[in-house]
Amino acid sequence: MKLVFATNNLNKLKEVQALIPSEIELLSLSDIGCNEDIPETSPTIEGNAKQKVQYIKQLYGYDCFADDTGLEVDVLNGAPGVYSARYAGEEKNAHANMDKLLNNLGSNTNRDAQFKTVIALELNGKLETFTGICTGTITVMKTGDQGFGYDPIFLPEGYSKTFAELPLNEKNKISHRGKAVKQLIDFLNH
Ligand code: IMP
Repeated sequence: MKLVFATNNLNKLKEVQALIPSEIELLSLSDIGCNEDIPETSPTIEGNAKQKVQYIKQLYGYDCFADDTGLEVDVLNGAPGVYSARYAGEEKNAHANMDKLLNNLGSNTNRDAQFKTVIALELNGKLETFTGICTGTITVMKTGDQGFGYDPIFLPEGYSKTFAELPLNEKNKISHRGKAVKQLIDFLNH
């Protein structure tokens, strides 16, 4: 069976392929000739993940899964949330996004936040979702140079290092994305 992972990140694709039953062959967006930007216009993370898989099913006919992630900060009423990538502008600049977030938080002492990943899966006419959450706090300055996005200012709960200071395999064990992928894999294996 062929299943599309709505991504062009070949590392992500390989990682998941290694964990699912071998009769499922994962295809990337470029494998199916999808080179356009898939619309992500929903006001929620879950809505965007669903929108991506429905787009692929309708236009390309493949069963598919897609992920969408956001960082939700408590005192900012869940912002930047679904707008995490474009928080400081369309150029999706990680440093500008972090600067804006640190600036908006100012000296606020409540710095609680969570990363949320939703994976939507369209399979055999059914739509499933899997949600992974990683709670933590926003630091007062950027620390560490690994990872991407908001990693240098996110301190996962129970850790004294930011995501950007943790080796990737450590981050994957506790991350929002790691947890959502695990649920997807458990589902596909049963
Ligand atoms: P996407 O849905 O995976 O494209 O993620 C949306 C945005 O959330 C990205 O552009 C990043 O800014 C941020 N983001 C997603 N996952 C992570 C993460 O694991 N660490 C830090 N930032 C992330």
